[in-house]
Amino acid sequence: MTAQTALPPSRPKIVIVGNGMAGLRFAQDLLGLLPDADLTMVGDEPGGAYNRAQLPLVLAGTARPDSIELADRGWYAARGIQLVGGTGAWIDRTRQLLGLADGTTLRYDILVLALGSAAVLPPAEGLFVAGPSASPSGALAPGAVAFRTLADCTRIQALAAGASHAVVLGGGVLGLETARSLSYRGRSVTLVQRGPRLMERQLDADAARVLTRTARGLGVTVRAGAAVRRVLNKGGRVSGVELDDGQVVRADLLVLCCGTRPRTDLARAAGLATGAGIVVDDQLRSVTDPRVFAIGDCAEHRGRTHGLVAAAWWQAKVAAEAVARQAVARQAVASHAVPGQQDETAAQAAIARPAVIRLKAAGIELAVLGSARGGGRADVIRVSDPARGVYQKVVVRDGRLVGAILLGDTRTAGTLTQLLDRGTSLPADRLSLLSGRRDGAVAAVDSPVTLPGHATICQCNGVTKAAICAAWQQGARDTAQVAARTRAATGCGTCRDAVQGIVDWLAAADPNPENSPTLVPA
Ligand SMILES: Cc1cc2nc3c(=O)[nH]c(=O)nc-3n(C[C@H](O)[C@H](O)[C@H](O)COP(=O)(O)OP(=O)(O)OC[C@H]3O[C@@H](n4cnc5c(N)ncnc54)[C@H](O)[C@@H]3O)c2cc1C
Repeated sequence: MTAQTALPPSRPKIVIVGNGMAGLRFAQDLLGLLPDADLTMVGDEPGGAYNRAQLPLVLAGTARPDSIELADRGWYAARGIQLVGGTGAWIDRTRQLLGLADGTTLRYDILVLALGSAAVLPPAEGLFVAGPSASPSGALAPGAVAFRTLADCTRIQALAAGASHAVVLGGGVLGLETARSLSYRGRSVTLVQRGPRLMERQLDADAARVLTRTARGLGVTVRAGAAVRRVLNKGGRVSGVELDDGQVVRADLLVLCCGTRPRTDLARAAGLATGAGIVVDDQLRSVTDPRVFAIGDCAEHRGRTHGLVAAAWWQAKVAAEAVARQAVARQAVASHAVPGQQDETAAQAAIARPAVIRLKAAGIELAVLGSARGGGRADVIRVSDPARGVYQKVVVRDGRLVGAILLGDTRTAGTLTQLLDRGTSLPADRLSLLSGRRDGAVAAVDSPVTLPGHATICQCNGVTKAAICAAWQQGARDTAQVAARTRAATGCGTCRDAVQGIVDWLAAADPNPENSPTLVPA
């Protein structure tokens, strides 16, 4: 279904605004379908696209900036993609023009908006040099950084090098990862969370208590239920924050991780329907204009925005297939080579899949699956051992898993993800889901041996154990080679150990795979 199609000479001009994770994946997937597509990419960050989800690893010093690069300039040039550095400033939908901030205009037949999201900045006094209405970049007081980009990461590292104490604002996933990255580098850190507990959107109060204790043990002081009233400045630089209870925390580095907001301004100004994001249909086309698509963090699909790599990449794939169909139809080429619309049912299901979040913070094992809040007719099974930093919970409704929290022990995360994804009925002994005891159909502790072939190992790319085994069979012998063939572990990176485990198991169990093609499971 994904064989390639050639376009005739007058190819439709496809312009992508945003050279991030969704924009690049869209280009890759589209070129897989239409290798001679006429593609222009406009990006307001320097260089090629990189893996934003792995920035916390760069901040911690456990990954190098070049190791998270997804495409260098040569990649674009080799594929005939025109890479334009600049900011998309306006869209004239009648004349099908995109205007850039520097005055350049680009004509398009199809426009793809992959604009990502912007950092939400708290309206704290003293945070802005020129008042909160000024553009966020450059308007923050020196010493304060909102963490979104590689440039932000470099700036935080530079400031951290000379900092005696850092404050991170925002106790969500990113705030926690950032605080832990800084403490991992030996900085003293206070994490200030306005809500009553850490990761309040994902965790219940008991889980948050255990997490707070673990974070403290790793050098992160947590102040939950505290808002910043004022950012203090000394000599024109951040010198600390004053909390709403009057307490002052001295700091020469302030990192803002206060949430994100899909970028919709460009679309809204062009008269495209926007809500929380740019409103799109099931093919990721704007509901206002079928020549404009929106994908990734900036898109609102079926009332939801996502803010996660897995959804962004599924959306890129669905949109690439839709654009390929549109481009081919426009050229009046009879083609059965691009996927038909019925293929999207599976992709839409994947986009709507319950979120799986795994924290990237050294020394903190945490996975949150689906909705773990409970309530209503849900059965809740919990195991809590705060002294060991362990809290586990599964939420079951109508005999099916709807959510789980695994903190301090995530060994059953793969099995639970699979049960959640497939809506499989659960074993009678539900404690086995947490403890890893064997109970009939479920061998709850994840193991390369017991996981079935259809278990999704890489959530970001939807790669199953069977696909990894098939790559092995086809000659991939280590994690990097498996990644190159399947894309496993190229998203947030938290499945790298699981992929490595499968590769190790294959190497031990099947030392001569060319001669024994038997290990690809169903
Ligand atoms: C530090 C950090 C850690 C994260 N960790 C995870 C994680 O562990 N797991 C996970 O699933 N997700 C994670 N995310 C979220 C994930 O990175 C996003 O969901 C993903 O990047 C979305 O891809 P995107 O292309 O929509 O947006 P982006 O990757 O943000 O790309 C958008 C690009 O468009 C550019 N742009 C915006 N407006 C314009 C314009 N007008 N003109 C030109 N260019 C423009 C932006 O500068 C940016 O380069 C993390 C995000 C951050 C910041």
